[in-house]
Amino acid sequence: MRIAFIAHDQKKTDMVNFVTAYEQIFKKHKLYSTGTTGKRIMEATSLTINRFLSGPYGGDQQIGALIAEDKMDLIIFFRDPLTAQPHEPDVSALLRLCDVHSIPLATNMATAEVLVKGIERGELEWRKENLSPKA
Ligand code: PGA
Repeated sequence: MRIAFIAHDQKKTDMVNFVTAYEQIFKKHKLYSTGTTGKRIMEATSLTINRFLSGPYGGDQQIGALIAEDKMDLIIFFRDPLTAQPHEPDVSALLRLCDVHSIPLATNMATAEVLVKGIERGELEWRKENLSPKA
């Protein structure tokens, strides 16, 4: 699976804690992130992450480009709805692309937890075939 991590500034510590908790699962997958989120995760874990630019400099859009090409399987994006983001249009565009392409997207830790457990149980295997989710 190709998994991308993005966390707004107020959520970065939550992201580091979350990824650390599931490190043994994530290490089996191909990982991507925006710049600072990935830096923080790599400092705290032994995971290797392909880091794109920082979100406000285009990292969200770089991940979006892969979503548009159906080259991402899961997006874990811890959003901070309480703080204005300078790159809000890019944030919205990323969410939109996930919906256009039916890419599983978690915008908070509770949802992310369910999706990660689903990966462990093979419930996202349909992504490998680029098929629609089974009923
Ligand atoms: P960052 O970008 O990980 O580089 O901080 C995340 C974002 O703000 O979208």
